[in-house]
Amino acid sequence: MANIFREEDATLEPLEGKTIAVLGYGNQGRSQALNLRDSGMKVVVGNADDDYSAQAREDGFEPTTIGEAAKLGDIVLSLLPDEVTPAIYREQIRGNLVAGNTLVFASGYCVAYNQIEFPKDINVVMVAPRTMGEVVREYYERGLGFLSMVSVHQDVDGKAWDTTLALAKAIGSLRDMAIETSFKDETELDLFTEQALIPAIAIALKTAVEILLEAGYDKIEAGLEMYLSGELGDVLRKAGERGFVGQSNLHSPTSHYGTKSRLDRFDALGMRPVMEKILAEVQSGEFAREWSAEQVAGYPYFNKLKQDFEKTAFAKAEQEILKEIRG
Ligand code: NDP
Repeated sequence: MANIFREEDATLEPLEGKTIAVLGYGNQGRSQALNLRDSGMKVVVGNADDDYSAQAREDGFEPTTIGEAAKLGDIVLSLLPDEVTPAIYREQIRGNLVAGNTLVFASGYCVAYNQIEFPKDINVVMVAPRTMGEVVREYYERGLGFLSMVSVHQDVDGKAWDTTLALAKAIGSLRDMAIETSFKDETELDLFTEQALIPAIAIALKTAVEILLEAGYDKIEAGLEMYLSGELGDVLRKAGERGFVGQSNLHSPTSHYGTKSRLDRFDALGMRPVMEKILAEVQSGEFAREWSAEQVAGYPYFNKLKQDFEKTAFAKAEQEILKEIRG
């Protein structure tokens, strides 16, 4: 049984008197910096001088370079995209760390794939929120928590766990919970969810919307019915609270029967070998090597994939619907 930590399992004491450096002011960086500051922590932000640092200034920080912030921090949060982290670590972070510092990641990726070597005299830990950066902030402001996966890779002073849980508490996660894992498991589970589950949902939505549009249904009605009303989000939220089976009973018998009686048709599509291959690529490091090569090449295939998807009838219809209903 995995260790689960809640609000009462941590104190903020390990963070008292410490400077926390947030490197990167993107999705996670901005939200975590704001949450930490609102929890009473001393936060410095490191980012290149661009739109992200302009946002940080607007939010009341005085951003410095990544290297300068890393030097100022006792606790250094690396909140940079995984695929660029090894190079930034080598060039701007490593030389500014001193003995006793704690380096924190929001994902196990670079450690799991052995992309970074650490000095032996620092703590290396992970606090990986299981939700989007924007939601990390939204939930904090609403007094809610969110799941984080936490781990300690290197504990130099015997305090790494206390610091990890203090950070999880200060960003607001422990109002819900944190679960102990390894950097490897966090990475593989996260990548599998992103690559096996989300594409399956995306294709299901895309196919369903395109079929309904071709059949002549009004695009706003179809889009809202499928997912743009947020009902699908509610179904998954309830599944998170009661389990998928438990939430089934919240639907009408007609809905419940319709869903259960058609499950086999989708099971027959053969998703299992596709998902097994995806898991094998994640576990072997094949995906990580592919993604590193893509980053080195300047993201040509990634950019093409994004552009191609944006040109689909589904994506165009979605934009039109959103414009009409949300302005
Ligand atoms: P973002 O893509 O939002 O990060 C953008 C930030 O990274 C900006 O500050 C940007 O600054 C900086 N950055 C990007 N490229 C470079 C570069 N080459 N050199 C220096 N700085 C750079 O990342 P996320 O917040 O999405 O992800 C950060 C970490 O959080 C990752 O480890 C991710 O796995 C993890 N995570 C993310 C979640 C999410 O929902 N987004 C959820 C849970 C974990 P600039 O462009 O100005 O250089």
